[in-house]
Amino acid sequence: MHRHDPRRRRLIRLVVLGAAGAPLLPALIGAARAELPKLEESDPTAAALGYKHDTNAVDRAKYPNHRPDQMCSNCNLIQGAEGEEWRPCAIFPGKLVHANGWCAAWVKKPG
Ligand code: SF4
Repeated sequence: MHRHDPRRRRLIRLVVLGAAGAPLLPALIGAARAELPKLEESDPTAAALGYKHDTNAVDRAKYPNHRPDQMCSNCNLIQGAEGEEWRPCAIFPGKLVHANGWCAAWVKKPG
């Protein structure tokens, strides 16, 4: 490509604009996630799986295998960033679950 090649200029412009926009990406992703609604305990699927926002509120009689140290934050099905209070979950697409929550689909995170 020659120095004044319009393709070269276009490529440089794309790289510069991309670099300028890159810092905004985490904020945009965070904003998109923030728009997701929180899962309601009364949601039919949530209720069927005994989901609670607080693992200590789980019905132990109904879920005898539940232990208080089991929670969404250490479940293998949790998604999103470590440390966030409300995070997406593979079982409840389009909704956020609480990091301290629990449901009967809990699976120990490996490691
Ligand atoms: S599948 Fe795991 S992360 Fe999702 S609600 Fe149940 S316990 Fe929480």
